[in-house]
Amino acid sequence: MMEIIDSHCHLDVEDFDADREAVLADCRAQGVNRIVVPGVCADTWDRLLEVCRQNRGLYPALGLHPYYIRGHRREHLAALEQRLADEPDLVAVGEIGLDFYIDDPARERQTGLFEAQLAAAAAADLPVIVHVRKAHKQVLKSLKRVRLGRGGIIHAYNGSLEQAREYIDLGFKLGFGGMITYERARNLRRLARELPLESIVLETDAPDMSGDICHGRRNSPQYLPHYLAVLAALRDESAKTVAQATRRNTLDVLKLDCPQKNR
Ligand SMILES: [Zn+2]
Repeated sequence: MMEIIDSHCHLDVEDFDADREAVLADCRAQGVNRIVVPGVCADTWDRLLEVCRQNRGLYPALGLHPYYIRGHRREHLAALEQRLADEPDLVAVGEIGLDFYIDDPARERQTGLFEAQLAAAAAADLPVIVHVRKAHKQVLKSLKRVRLGRGGIIHAYNGSLEQAREYIDLGFKLGFGGMITYERARNLRRLARELPLESIVLETDAPDMSGDICHGRRNSPQYLPHYLAVLAALRDESAKTVAQATRRNTLDVLKLDCPQKNR
């Protein structure tokens, strides 16, 4: 069976409380046997770590998401640095980034928090999982200012081909998921077709970013094989080739095969 990794899924949120184990059993039956679970706010980290401890194949990351910029406090950043030192299971710092699409985005505050978390990742020798909306230029600037040892993943990538190349040069992989199933997503489909396969990872961002298979309903890692099939068809490659390469890319960038801290 093909093994597929979901490099970005919020499996800790309450949308999955009623049937998390059934969802995971169905995932495993379809070959989706590893899932990276990024954190978004300090008050959800404990629960996230607990969910990851209780279920096999789940890999936790912790971070302060730019969407919730108004809720983050200085002490949350200190708490993150402490967790990076204390929690041996973390595979990345994330979900962090810049979101200039939200109302009243507090750009300077977002940028300060983002760069502080990049520095924390660099100090802990961890990669980062990055959320970007309407801010690729600024994110690239920050990534050049605060140099990481390990690169990471630009999740739900939807920038230009040029910017993709810049990210790749900085050691990043680019995440694609359910949005490529929509014909109207022309830029995204073009990226998915033209980017080198070595730079692509698969993700769902479940319960958000539902593809055509679950339009208007909860997205789930159960649908990742469908997104894989769509990606393979767009690229005119076999599902097996795309599954193997994206799995390898995710294992490499997050070092999921190494058992301990500083993977
Ligand atoms: Zn996310």
